[in-house]
Amino acid sequence: MFYISTRGHAAKQKFCDILLEGLAPDGGLYLPETYPCLDDAQLLRLRQVFNTQGYAHLAFEILSFYIDDIPPSDLLALCKKTYTAEVFGHQLIAPVRSFGPAIFILELSNGPTLAFKDMAMQLLGNLFEYELKRRSEELNILGATSGDTGSAAEYAMRGKKGVRVFMTSPHGRMSKFQQAQMFSLQDKNIFNIAVKGVFDDCQDMVKAVSNDLEFKRTYKIGTVNSINWARLLAQVVYYFAAYFQVSQSNQQAISFTVPSGNFGNICAGHVARMMGLPVSKLVVATNENDVLDEFFRTGIYKVRSSSHTFETSSPSMDISKASNFERFIFDLTGRDAAKTAQLFGPDLHAKGQFSLSNESYFFQASQKYGFQSGKSTHQNRLETIREAYTKQGQMLDPHTADGVKVAQELAEADTPMVVLETALPIKFESTILEALGCSPEMPAKFAHLESLPQRVDIMNVDVAAIKAYIQNHCVES
Ligand SMILES: *Cc1c(COP(=O)(O)O)cnc(C)c1O
Repeated sequence: MFYISTRGHAAKQKFCDILLEGLAPDGGLYLPETYPCLDDAQLLRLRQVFNTQGYAHLAFEILSFYIDDIPPSDLLALCKKTYTAEVFGHQLIAPVRSFGPAIFILELSNGPTLAFKDMAMQLLGNLFEYELKRRSEELNILGATSGDTGSAAEYAMRGKKGVRVFMTSPHGRMSKFQQAQMFSLQDKNIFNIAVKGVFDDCQDMVKAVSNDLEFKRTYKIGTVNSINWARLLAQVVYYFAAYFQVSQSNQQAISFTVPSGNFGNICAGHVARMMGLPVSKLVVATNENDVLDEFFRTGIYKVRSSSHTFETSSPSMDISKASNFERFIFDLTGRDAAKTAQLFGPDLHAKGQFSLSNESYFFQASQKYGFQSGKSTHQNRLETIREAYTKQGQMLDPHTADGVKVAQELAEADTPMVVLETALPIKFESTILEALGCSPEMPAKFAHLESLPQRVDIMNVDVAAIKAYIQNHCVES
């Protein structure tokens, strides 16, 4: 299996070469040269693997279609080490529960940080450690977070050999729970940096460091952002796991609704569908930041400026542009790299939008690829959380509530609809309190989290300071 860039750069790469990289050299995103397409017999075999051997073995089977530069026995060992009931809180790893008529919830948030990003990031941690050791290399992951991504990365990389994590976050702006989650980590390879500024300041500092190519090379600076192909690939697995739990036979089709931001999670659903998983609809659910809903309704992709990006009560979906979206557009245009490069290149930067409204392939987004979309507002979110609690006796986190709201509008009577649960309610306590007048229960393993000693360094918005910080800590440890 080789990987190509959505913008047509000539060099084909193997999985392990793109594992530690971000964008392709031409600014595009990596995708497999072709999607392996499963026939009935293969799908039946995967169902049996999942039913008899479990999630880790299913992950190994799916990953094996895309990774041929790690020996199978090593890859299986990495999957088994990653997907344990101990880490993910459930024997099935990603169990499905029932929610009202023909609607199901795929639980992806029982991992260490209680959000779905653990599903991929935990595997990434083990893959990084494996590959870095094989190459006798080190990596310093530098990131900016306003919550979920940073904590998932830290919990995935803690204690891993060859990896250090330098995670910046806006000082005093994360929830108490999120701060406690990250800052209580005592691992020597994890560095929390609270920046006296907002999230954009953190991101700008990270960009400035990465743009200093010499510093980047000398200090082996890397990232774990959502465009990483390995993260996306790991997410493909749970679409299969959900399908095998909800359907009785491979003749049945099911649909998915995905609370979306950067289009990573639902893009994995697209890949699963391209592989031949019987998926009817892939429904994109957005919050007030409705870049993606607008595109699927009108064909117009309009990037928002930061002043037009709202701070909402489903904050992990507050995006101004969807960084994985280019992958889907590449497929939608019939894998036309020149067209994709033109759409996402300097033009988009200058004009802030493109339109496919008049292109025949825009209609294929729904007709051929099964995409639909909807949006949800703060009021919708509160109502959905309330209704789920009173009618179903289930507590939903605000992001999952956005998904449920849209799923209820678009579900079809004869096709089961699975909503992806992207976080647990305890992470977003204040919105739950607003909706229900009571707080979610704190899981026992987090009972003492907020009283643990915290490790964090406070820094001004200062690129030289963060470079010096990285330098010092690379020499020390
Ligand atoms: C990251 C995140 C999302 C958005 O996922 P994308 O892959 O960026 O579309 C939704 N909900 C929660 C809780 C998240 O952490």
